[in-house]
Amino acid sequence: MKLHEYQAKELLARYGVPVPKGRVANTPDEAEAIAKELGSAVVVKAQAHTGGRGKGGGVKLAATPAEAKQAASEIIGMRLVTHQTGPQGLPVASVLVEEQLSIARELYLSVTIDNAAGMPIVIASAAGGMDIEQVAEESPEQIHRQAVHPTTGFMPFQARTLCFATGLDGDLTRPATALMTALVKAFEENDGSLVEINPLAVTTDGRLLAADAKFSIDDNADFRHQDLMAMRDTSQEDEREVEAHAAGIQNYVKLEGNIGCLVNGAGLAMATMDAIKFEGGQPANFLDIGTANSADAVVGALKIIGSDPDVKAVLVNIFGGLARTDIIAEGVVAAIREGFVTQPTVVRLAGTNVAEGLRILDESKLDLVRADGFAEAARKAVEAAG
Ligand code: GDP
Ligand code: MN
Repeated sequence: MKLHEYQAKELLARYGVPVPKGRVANTPDEAEAIAKELGSAVVVKAQAHTGGRGKGGGVKLAATPAEAKQAASEIIGMRLVTHQTGPQGLPVASVLVEEQLSIARELYLSVTIDNAAGMPIVIASAAGGMDIEQVAEESPEQIHRQAVHPTTGFMPFQARTLCFATGLDGDLTRPATALMTALVKAFEENDGSLVEINPLAVTTDGRLLAADAKFSIDDNADFRHQDLMAMRDTSQEDEREVEAHAAGIQNYVKLEGNIGCLVNGAGLAMATMDAIKFEGGQPANFLDIGTANSADAVVGALKIIGSDPDVKAVLVNIFGGLARTDIIAEGVVAAIREGFVTQPTVVRLAGTNVAEGLRILDESKLDLVRADGFAEAARKAVEAAG
């Protein structure tokens, strides 16, 4: 789950990360009032779950409260399109109104999980304010990393190493070390998957502040953070992923292709996507229905898949271990009868109660494409999708 910038800044501020003074506004009038209260020039920033807002017209500088009101009226209600959102963009319902900083230098700082190292990693760069992926590509020597070992935690010498590498020297080393340490603590205590400050600003009067902030929380830890989950803004998420989550399907991820997949087990789901690609097709989603021993759960999952306009064929690939293939078959038949799936559907069942499962499919007299083998199922699904 992602937080909005203003939520991320509130959270980080509680850990002692310095952030600019400001508040969120839902209307242009509120934005004007906040600018008055701050009594300085402000920056008005679209709150949407994307980076690159600056280039997309979602970050505006305002010298007066009237200008802040004007900027907010242009931003609130827009659909913000950036290089990360796709052409449909994201809705913007609020803006963050903050004191404008006089920025001398823009750095980059983040904490994420390094899957190869199996540890959190702190990443810092003097080349902040721009797309970090581009920096990593064009000048990888400008990216500095320190892994956070679980037994020792983030050590002060590691912070100083990053400070020296990025030119946070002299009077800046002490506050930068404190800021990095606070950032790691916030990441760990809130089960972060990414916390990113870009830019980390050094102002012309020598202050160090998080001018931007992103915070993503590991969804597997959501039960431990009810307070943060209350901040969830589903308007920023894929609607089918939201629906799947509400239906108790944790593992649904929307993808680019046109073959909808209903599979049990994450390993089989991965293998099914590989098989589809091997046969020249593209999966429209990753879906692990788990041990779904209720026809309703299958109907719920197929409803989500079938309603995706990108889906041109459906592939049901089930290996029944604890899952019973007869119950899956009942769900498939019900979903088609109820009109939730109108696309050509390929079904491959194997394992527990497969004879009964296949009998249910046969007796339904529905126009299903049957496959016995895995490769055959993938090939037929690719054919059916055209
Ligand atoms: P992003 O484009 O979504 O990453 O949004 P940011 O919050 O990073 O803002 C984009 C850019 O706007 C930053 O890199 C800064 O150059 C600029 N910016 C943001 N806040 C301020 C500010 O208070 N003062 C000045 N001068 N520039 C700012
Ligand atoms: Mn940014």
